[in-house]
Amino acid sequence: MLPFSYTRAADGDAAIAAGALPGAKFLAGGTNLVDLMKGGVEAPQALIDISRLPLAGISALQQGGVRIGALARNSDTADHPVIRSRYPLLSRALLSGATPQLRNAATVGGNILQRTRCHYFYDPGFQMCNKRNPGSGCAALEGHNRMHALFGASAHCVATHPSDMCVALSALDALVRLRSAAGERAVAMLDFHRLPGDEPHIETRLVPGELIVSVDLPASSFVKHCAYLKVRDRASFAFALVSVAIALDVREGLIHEARIAMGGVAHKPWRAFGAEQLLVGAPVDAAPFAEAAGAAVEGARALKHNAFKIDLARRAVLRALRIAQS
Ligand SMILES: Cc1cc2nc3c(=O)[nH]c(=O)nc-3n(C[C@H](O)[C@H](O)[C@H](O)COP(=O)(O)OP(=O)(O)OC[C@H]3O[C@@H](n4cnc5c(N)ncnc54)[C@H](O)[C@@H]3O)c2cc1C
Repeated sequence: MLPFSYTRAADGDAAIAAGALPGAKFLAGGTNLVDLMKGGVEAPQALIDISRLPLAGISALQQGGVRIGALARNSDTADHPVIRSRYPLLSRALLSGATPQLRNAATVGGNILQRTRCHYFYDPGFQMCNKRNPGSGCAALEGHNRMHALFGASAHCVATHPSDMCVALSALDALVRLRSAAGERAVAMLDFHRLPGDEPHIETRLVPGELIVSVDLPASSFVKHCAYLKVRDRASFAFALVSVAIALDVREGLIHEARIAMGGVAHKPWRAFGAEQLLVGAPVDAAPFAEAAGAAVEGARALKHNAFKIDLARRAVLRALRIAQS
């Protein structure tokens, strides 16, 4: 590990000022960043510890939404009564990630900004990685790519975003609230992560030094009919091959609104908008579910080793729809 300085930020303004300096990075739970530093993947010159800032609150908003502070721990968020009762989809997605020990340390902001688990990114022994080493190429493109992307990939990067939480946040139309010296702004979770294009090292819309302060969820009509299904190589402590977040608003037997988001299949949580539209107005029934599951994988493009994920994703969507129905 290369030398770096460590500063505990006294308040939000101090964090933002220090975080904007070249080579600085915020430290929250440290469960991803410290790993990457130890492995030689990231080498920040200055760590700005934000973990003591007062950003861990979870509070109900007027008009029925909720605000989750960026430093709320993943376990506290999953177990919070407002989240459990109004956003069970988010709670289930969080509980499917990592381990209890990791969830006790990991924060909402850090979870959003966790980096890909592509082996070629994680191991600096591989020279080629456009994320780690822009312009060097993508070893996964012709390498071992069974975990990699089906949608939105490019010739420069086929990595996926590994978060479970973000898949649920995408389905729930979350807003990510940001703060920098220029002021505050909000970015929809749907737009927060970028597709790789020819700059896969630029992963989000965040500008240097910008702090995630909270995540806002609008009032939800998806309490009764939702499901988070994660398919992985091991029953726990493993990242998704494919995950699916389903949220249905069912009124008098008909689907009034539908959300389908997938994880493990793209550089960002992937919303299946076409499939969602097919469900609107349809009865809660096997035939529209099968049609929507087929539509959810339209446009998927397999690499050498991950063609199995297309049918896996279709089946996972279908199964998650059935779970959400009950
Ligand atoms: C063994 C293992 C298994 C795991 N399994 C899963 C899994 O199954 N599913 C899953 O979703 N995740 C999994 N994770 C990842 C885990 O969820 C992340 O490591 C964690 O959420 C990161 O949060 P953190 O607070 O520790 O972030 P940190 O490591 O502190 O930070 C991560 C990044 O976010 C930046 N950052 C943090 N907070 C802010 C903020 N407020 N504003 C701006 N920048 C910020 C940091 O600068 C850094 O770049 C696993 C991790 C491990 C180690």
